[in-house]
Amino acid sequence: MLLGAIADDLTGATDLALTLSREGMRTVQVVGVPQEGFDFGDAEAVVLALKSRTLPADEAVSQSLAALACLRTSNVRQVIFKYCSTFDSTPEGNIGPVTDALLAALGEPFTVVCPAFPTNGRTVYRGNLFVGNVLLSESSMKDHPLTPMTDSNLVRLMQAQTHLPVDLINRDVVMRGSAAIREAFARAVVAGTRILVVDAICDDDLRTIGEALADVGLVTGGSGIALGLPENFRRAGVLATRKKTASFAAPAGRAVMLAGSCSQATREQIEATIANGTPTFQIVPLDIASGTLTPENAINWAVAQHAAIPLIYSSADPDVVRFTQNRLGREKAGALIERFLGDVAMALRSRGFSQFVVAGGETSGAVVKALGVSALLIGPEIDPGVPWTLSFGNAKPVALALKSGNFGTIDFFSKAWNLLS
Ligand code: ADP
Repeated sequence: MLLGAIADDLTGATDLALTLSREGMRTVQVVGVPQEGFDFGDAEAVVLALKSRTLPADEAVSQSLAALACLRTSNVRQVIFKYCSTFDSTPEGNIGPVTDALLAALGEPFTVVCPAFPTNGRTVYRGNLFVGNVLLSESSMKDHPLTPMTDSNLVRLMQAQTHLPVDLINRDVVMRGSAAIREAFARAVVAGTRILVVDAICDDDLRTIGEALADVGLVTGGSGIALGLPENFRRAGVLATRKKTASFAAPAGRAVMLAGSCSQATREQIEATIANGTPTFQIVPLDIASGTLTPENAINWAVAQHAAIPLIYSSADPDVVRFTQNRLGREKAGALIERFLGDVAMALRSRGFSQFVVAGGETSGAVVKALGVSALLIGPEIDPGVPWTLSFGNAKPVALALKSGNFGTIDFFSKAWNLLS
């Protein structure tokens, strides 16, 4: 195994696995930390998808260290800690605490922080994270139900989460090339800096940074930071030239869409889906809490929709989410919906549904867990960062498109189904 990654949520893991497979690495994505002796086959890259983004920091750390131990038994050469390109976290973590723990466990002198994902509009300039044309703190991430982001400065955000010294390598250095970046690494180590935020505003920047990271044991960032890493292994003669991506055949069966993301992109995609006449079923968390809405209501409704692919969603505008959270508590509201959608997915699976589009990182984690899926093969890409995947290791495979909330164009849902037809 050349590259081993620990991702803090499922859709992020898929996004990274897709990047690595596109760059020519045989990539396997595993849901959770596999049991000892798990067969990664001939994978050159393995992505372990945790659901640690919003856990208490100590639990996120212990899960991440267990994942690291698993990767090390396969003699992994380089480790990536993958988090969201919008740096989803709170002052308690978990990006800082997990990075600290991985650095210590690997005995590495330093690491980088680079959530940039220019293809999806996430860029880092002078240490500030942009989403499209606005700062992170002005983007819809300020209203995220679990990890509202109200600062955009990555040095400040990271420093609030770690006791290790944090500094910046800015774009002026990145533009001078990988040798200049390596020199900046060396200077930082002498100065005692352990964590370096690195600017990147385009894929070329990420490839340059990737080249500079050839000998760095721990890399942290969004999926973009992986763009330039496979080429290092190719240069070192341990990775073959590009291969074609594996063929993909979705299992026959009925299809459904489940959305628990309240991100702006998902809400727009849902509006477009409603507008084109798709049958929809809205889940209201307060109704779940009061017992007036049960998974059976949604399951029976979906089973009855023979003419079209139905959409079940809980997605709501920020003011509605706030109102709900004030009544139920943030975590309870989230957990209620995640469990509900997981129950719905499991029941539909047993009633002949085998193709699922799921919107939302946490939501996807809950659905995959409920379906008992433990590993995914990466298939064709629907939109940047979102491929169709096929479960493997299960008696009856399912096709899953797991979409991080803010990903995808407005017609994402119809695009996904068109790719399968
Ligand atoms: P994203 O990828 O957009 O961040 P996630 O699924 O990761 O989406 O997170 C959305 C969270 O919001 C989940 O925990 C989900 O259960 C919760 N949620 C969904 N709908 C509502 C709602 N109407 N009110 C409150 N919380 C909600």
